[in-house]
Amino acid sequence: MTTPVLPKMPTLDNLHDLDARDPLRHKKAQFVLPGGVIYLDGNSLGALPGAVPERLQRVIHQEWGDALIRSWTAHAQEGRDWMALPDRVAAKLAPLIGADASEIAVGDSTSVNLFKALTSALHVAAPGRRVILTDADNFPTDLYVAQGLNSLLGDRYELRRVPAADVATHLTDEVAVVMLTEVDYRTGERLDMAGLTAQACARGVLTIWDLAHSAGAFEVDLTGAGADFAVGCGYKYLNGGPGAPGYLYVARRHLDTRVALSGWMGHADPFEMARDYVPARDARRFVVGTPMVLSLSALDTALDVFADVDLAELRAKSLGLTDTFMSLLSGDPDLTLVTPLDHARRGSQVSFRHPQAKEAMRRLVERGVIGDFRTPDIVRFGFTPLYVSYADVYHAAQAVLEVAGELRA
Ligand SMILES: *Cc1c(COP(=O)(O)O)cnc(C)c1O
Repeated sequence: MTTPVLPKMPTLDNLHDLDARDPLRHKKAQFVLPGGVIYLDGNSLGALPGAVPERLQRVIHQEWGDALIRSWTAHAQEGRDWMALPDRVAAKLAPLIGADASEIAVGDSTSVNLFKALTSALHVAAPGRRVILTDADNFPTDLYVAQGLNSLLGDRYELRRVPAADVATHLTDEVAVVMLTEVDYRTGERLDMAGLTAQACARGVLTIWDLAHSAGAFEVDLTGAGADFAVGCGYKYLNGGPGAPGYLYVARRHLDTRVALSGWMGHADPFEMARDYVPARDARRFVVGTPMVLSLSALDTALDVFADVDLAELRAKSLGLTDTFMSLLSGDPDLTLVTPLDHARRGSQVSFRHPQAKEAMRRLVERGVIGDFRTPDIVRFGFTPLYVSYADVYHAAQAVLEVAGELRA
């Protein structure tokens, strides 16, 4: 992989030109964004899509208020029954992650989905293997869920945590499952999902990918990569709203796997009220309890924003925005870039170390440039190509330079 040469220091005029030619420029109008704010935190909580409030009003007043319990099954023909909401959202998510809708279960948090995926993966893993391999710097909840599940299983497994760069060399025949997050939440570094999955597969190791910072930020191809399981978040780049449901992907070849959280909504026929659990045919078996209708409805409408988005254009703009931000800040002596320059190794965020990172971010937020601080010394900026413009990047970078200068003085 080659490291790209950063573009020359862009001027505001250059960036206005790029905005004028941006094929995604009409997308910003589909979001509600507050005035006086440059929002670089869509990797933590996506902005509000303009069509969501209206949808929620309809769900609350008509479907809940008027139709009441009938809404669970009403308008099933037109696909507007509440029961089918998880499946409908799965169908909209499928093209974003390179999966078939029947391989996706929507609902619960990412953490709970990881628990479900890991239990199933351990169940289908090659017998006798006793290691769960992961990145030592994986997102905390991913590590905690693996620890909790392992203790439930009587500590039968060893949770082996190694630096991301060493994962490939640790794919041995002791490993049952490797559990990785494609884009690191702190550094923005992107792992080679296809390459690592192929290596894992060659050694009989199952893969679970966390797509929290991938889906909606760039094209993901789970089928092409040959991933076994994946999980992800609805409220980051997918803009489903605070606490939006997450999702679980299970490759078709594992569709008949056992599920640990065998709830009635994953039963083949929930309203048969049978005494024994019979799993639904496809990934629907991973839906556990009653669908979260309000939050699923918000996510369902939020995903419509992607209907006419070319994911190659989305990625090209994401790289353009992050390249621009990196160039504009490349001269500051106190900002140390931690995000890789190499396009292939980058997600859609840029992070720097700064000696007073927390205070720097506090001052930026005060000025309306919203990113976040990650302990101990990282300032992190997420670039959502659907609603961040090149001019926004310019103004945000100027604010960062000013704040860094103030803190030096
Ligand atoms: C944001 C994030 C989560 C969030 O998990 P929740 O259960 O939705 O709180 C999980 N994993 C990663 C890698 C994340 O970035």
